[in-house]
Amino acid sequence: MNREAVVIVGASVGGVRTAQALRAADYRGRIVLFSDEPVTPYDKPPLSKGFLAGGVTADDVTLLGHADADRLGIEMRLGCRVTELHLAHNEVKLKSGERLAFRHLVIATGARARPSPWGQPDGVHLLRTLDDSKRLRADLERGGRLVVIGGGFIGAETAATARSMGLTVTLVDPCRVPMERVLGPEIGERFLQLHESKGVTTYFGIGVGGIDGHRGRFRVELTNGRILHADCIVVGIGAIPNDEWLASSGLHIDNGVICDKYLRAVDAPDVFAVGDVCRWQNPRHDRLTRIEHWTNAVDQAAAVAHNITQPSDPVAYDPVEYVWSDQYDWKIRIAGVACLADGRHVEVIGDNAGRFAGLYSPDGRTFAGIVVVNWPRALIAGRKALTERTPYPVIRRALAQLAEARYPTATGAR
Ligand code: NAP
Repeated sequence: MNREAVVIVGASVGGVRTAQALRAADYRGRIVLFSDEPVTPYDKPPLSKGFLAGGVTADDVTLLGHADADRLGIEMRLGCRVTELHLAHNEVKLKSGERLAFRHLVIATGARARPSPWGQPDGVHLLRTLDDSKRLRADLERGGRLVVIGGGFIGAETAATARSMGLTVTLVDPCRVPMERVLGPEIGERFLQLHESKGVTTYFGIGVGGIDGHRGRFRVELTNGRILHADCIVVGIGAIPNDEWLASSGLHIDNGVICDKYLRAVDAPDVFAVGDVCRWQNPRHDRLTRIEHWTNAVDQAAAVAHNITQPSDPVAYDPVEYVWSDQYDWKIRIAGVACLADGRHVEVIGDNAGRFAGLYSPDGRTFAGIVVVNWPRALIAGRKALTERTPYPVIRRALAQLAEARYPTATGAR
């Protein structure tokens, strides 16, 4: 058996980009890429936006087609579930019973949508896979009333897409405002106003007690006793890392695969992890971190490919976090860490004509993160400042000047 194989388990963006980056780094060995889904690998961000609305096709979201995989010498094994890892023999075992040896293993099994605690009859949707998005689109195309439970990324993006398709939308979450955990209450309040201004009915600070009925006649009972009527429902209440298949492997698993700063599984130097399932020792924050966003998976893939091909010169993975979301006409870009503990400093700069930047600092001195809406130059300046660890007052002043220069009548910093 060829022990020089890199085996990659999981073919979403983290797995696919690792395979591509290995070839780009001139890795000459065998690369085997496993997906338990039978379809060619696809990109997930459009599933709650363009693909869901119907303007973007399945071809548009393909990450790696068969022709490109053949050209790169990537063996794609689709519809194959890997069920076990045997570290003693550097082997994975498939559901079929087949075993495959590896020189390096990359775990890229991602995360799945947290299941609906209120049951999931037809017409109650989770949104994670291409099939989920197709099924939901079929329901949205019928029009009518949609209740979205969960005001995080999936909920907020789906609410915006459904409104653009003409549905009557209600958004429910026990948090005070949409995206509260990522952006905090001050900036989240702006998202609340955005959704309401687009005609979404919102119930924040209220939970869901139960769902009954069927497609076209659902009743959603809120914890305050109110009943919402819906034709279909989306439940977007978070994600769970797909790490159960590693339970007996001997790897350290705790809300993801625990990795060192090189994204190498602790105590297993031939095993790496990327994407939503990777919980690594983040040197920037000096703590274990797991990030469920696209850019993180792409950047981790590049780091792992480097660390496999250049073992004598490994790079620590030390990113400035970056996330984007599109909701209505807002292009939302988040860099660094915006979800700080209470007592943080949050300031809005350059609030003008549908664009602004929210700046985050734990203490008024350290610059921790920025959220930018429809203002690319502020984003560029903010990301650079985060990379260079520019003090908060300096970036704050620079952005206020940028706002003033572009919109001389604006008040600048508020
Ligand atoms: P999410 O962003 O974590 O948001 C889930 C929301 O649901 C949170 O507000 C959460 O509140 C709320 N929630 C939890 N339990 C609930 C309950 N029982 N009833 C009502 N609401 C409840 O997760 P998501 O929106 O489901 O997205 C899944 C993953 O995909 C996330 O990691 C997300 O970042 C990622 N994603 C990213 C993008 C993007 O980058 N643009 C787009 C789509 C999805 P608590 O915080 O209090 O639990």
